[in-house]
Amino acid sequence: MDASEERDEERARICIVGGGFGGLFTALSLAGAGDVTLISNDDHYLHTPLLYEYLSGEVEAWHIAPTYKELLDERVRFVQGAATGVDFDRRGVSVAGRVRRFSYDYLVLAVGGITNFWNVEGAEQHSMPFRKIRHADDLRRRMIDALDRIQPDAAPQDARRAATFVVVGGGASGVELSTKMSDLLRDAFKRRGLRGEPHVAVVEMSGQLVPGMDAGVREAVERVVAEKRVEVFTDARVVRVLPRGIVFEHAGEQTTLEAAGVVWTAGVRVSPLVEALDLEKTRRGLLVVAPTLQVQDRPEVFALGDIADYQDVPPSLFGTAQLAFQQSSLVAANIQALIDGSVPSRGHFEELGEAVSLGTDDAAVLTAGKVVGGQIARQARYALYTTRLPTWHHRLRVGAAWFFGGKSPRPLGL
Ligand SMILES: Cc1cc2nc3c(=O)[nH]c(=O)nc-3n(C[C@H](O)[C@H](O)[C@H](O)COP(=O)(O)OP(=O)(O)OC[C@H]3O[C@@H](n4cnc5c(N)ncnc54)[C@H](O)[C@@H]3O)c2cc1C
Repeated sequence: MDASEERDEERARICIVGGGFGGLFTALSLAGAGDVTLISNDDHYLHTPLLYEYLSGEVEAWHIAPTYKELLDERVRFVQGAATGVDFDRRGVSVAGRVRRFSYDYLVLAVGGITNFWNVEGAEQHSMPFRKIRHADDLRRRMIDALDRIQPDAAPQDARRAATFVVVGGGASGVELSTKMSDLLRDAFKRRGLRGEPHVAVVEMSGQLVPGMDAGVREAVERVVAEKRVEVFTDARVVRVLPRGIVFEHAGEQTTLEAAGVVWTAGVRVSPLVEALDLEKTRRGLLVVAPTLQVQDRPEVFALGDIADYQDVPPSLFGTAQLAFQQSSLVAANIQALIDGSVPSRGHFEELGEAVSLGTDDAAVLTAGKVVGGQIARQARYALYTTRLPTWHHRLRVGAAWFFGGKSPRPLGL
């Protein structure tokens, strides 16, 4: 008998697929409410807003990517594996490498998104995604390799060419990443006594950086991006990604930019699991959900976060951790309501503010309608994200480590 079948007949079987912002926080809220199983493909959660700080060495993996083993107690069973399908009629989830399905009375789908390369030629083969710890490790290694190849007496223009990196996408992710990379590379140039300066460029399809964000935040972003010597190409469409560079089109002209690395932050699409599910979806492939987060015609199935089309929220909230986090409370409350024989309720989700990290010494935070910048904003952003880390125990450990140990960047090469 599969572990998933060993059950107390009285207890509801709750199966949660995906252990990110939506799934993990639902599991934590429902711990003990029934036979709770969390299925996720990695062995750790990831606090994505701080992945840029992991790249720069300001935070460590254990701070932002604690294992589920550390976060969950015996009230939630964790299964590491990729869910490959759901039989909604028989109420079972299939997991790669496991013969038996995981049976459920209530199912939560929270598998999030993956990088969308939009079928741009060469993009998937040659550019680097930035969504996981291993992606940050790969990018850091690529930057160090590029620096190591520069001769100490290289001419400034040669050093710049060898240390050119392109970030595709000028949304919050592209801005946070490019400013961190620029700070790290410029610091490395100084430490290694190299002449000239590195080159980090952002290529953005729309007419401005951070489209959709508050105008004050955008102003702060544009100022700091310029200070940090990041080159910005707006109204620019990537045509092709090459093994060492990109070709993009701007004002009807094609430009080729040689680069030691191209990082792709320009899009997200739903996880392939969702594409395979026989459930109603929007044209963008998102699951259609009721205001209670139940999927159409399947009241025992809930979906949330990046894969769910929740109608009643400002468009800027879609695809954010803040939305998935808030929705997890509603899903947990509604499953508890169904267990108790009462009626699920609808949700109300709010913007909790905007916070963009800008390099290793700056940030822009929108709070109570005002934009705050500089070191204070950087500290405020840390405080904000510490309070959102999962579990009190983990928050305290990380908060103490930051308070006593500081959060300085780790130079490239160390
Ligand atoms: C680098 C980065 C920085 C970000 N910064 C911010 C920010 O500052 N503020 C903000 O609000 N939002 C931010 N976001 C967006 C935010 O991370 C997402 O909106 C949020 O994580 C969505 O939550 P989710 O639960 O839907 O999906 P996720 O958090 O992505 O979780 C999905 C989980 O499901 C797992 N999974 C996927 N497929 C399967 C499968 N088949 N079987 C089992 N498990 C599976 C994944 O491994 C993952 O653990 C950022 C995203 C990235 C990538």
